[in-house]
Amino acid sequence: MNDKWQQLIMQWDGINQQLLDLMNERARMATEIMQEKQKQGIAKDTPVGNQQLLSELAAHTFANPKANKEAPAERQLLVSRQYKSEDTIIQVKHAEIGGSSHTIVAGPCAIESREQLLTVATTMKNAGINVLRGGAFKPRTSPYDFQGLGEEGLKIMKEVADETGMVTISEIMSPAQIDTAARYIDIFQIGARNMHNFDLLRAVGQTQKPVLLKRGLSATIEEFIYAAEYLLASGNSQVMLIERGIRTYEKWTRNTLDISAVPILKQETHLPVLVDVTHSTGRKEIMLPCAKAALAAGADGIMIEVHPNPQVALSDAKQQLNINEFNTFLQGLRDSGLYR
Ligand code: PEP
Ligand code: MN
Repeated sequence: MNDKWQQLIMQWDGINQQLLDLMNERARMATEIMQEKQKQGIAKDTPVGNQQLLSELAAHTFANPKANKEAPAERQLLVSRQYKSEDTIIQVKHAEIGGSSHTIVAGPCAIESREQLLTVATTMKNAGINVLRGGAFKPRTSPYDFQGLGEEGLKIMKEVADETGMVTISEIMSPAQIDTAARYIDIFQIGARNMHNFDLLRAVGQTQKPVLLKRGLSATIEEFIYAAEYLLASGNSQVMLIERGIRTYEKWTRNTLDISAVPILKQETHLPVLVDVTHSTGRKEIMLPCAKAALAAGADGIMIEVHPNPQVALSDAKQQLNINEFNTFLQGLRDSGLYR
């Protein structure tokens, strides 16, 4: 809290709280006065004035758009539209994210072998798609599950990228992985489980590499926006957001895809917004309609997992598309007329 504006925001919040407390107290007194008047037989309809004053005060303080505009908390978030009205477009080599065309980020859940990654990258290249994903440091629920190939996986990714011209993206889970990963990949991914890892956000924020930030498992949109703010406040403006589904009571999908987050994030921030149809749904047969919904809602791109042989995948075997399914998915998206 050493920034002047952060201190001012704290003071501002404090004043708001005091005003609310006073208004509540005033409302309570209004009732008391009415009761007293009733007891003494004074006409019920004698205006006490409190209610009206409160509405006027409320209207002035909270509903007047001009008054709202002056709220520093809103105006000063670096991720906000108020701070920067134009869309942020992220140029990574020959890929442009957040610009006039949609971006498809595809690739396996985890990098397993050179052959596996090359097969997917070649399919993507043939389809005119150029952002390849693949995990090398995998955040697995069980410590006994495949944890990813680590640096070895990133080396494979770089080789495949050099061969196919892919722009690459891979997850890092700790600040200690930043320097190693930076040597091999083009975009850092901060996964859902680390959206609240503030040390990681600050450390990635101190690099100039583009970063794709995933929404936390149970993060509100506001928390998601503040997590992105950590990156920008630390000096990195190359930030993309991705909705990947949130935890609800619903069991028929892996997570609940919050489509409403897309227009809200587009409205509230100037950052590119993508939608991960794999981890949000966990169901191959609804990925296409969900991707269409995402594009219709204004998303700048889609993330989807693809594996040459999903049945034997070392992670997320159930939900990765095989090559044919991926081609059908792409065709469906193109046929929809929503994909540009
Ligand atoms: C991933 O994209 O590889 C991943 C682990 O997703 P999430 O962080 O959204 O669970
Ligand atoms: Mn996965």
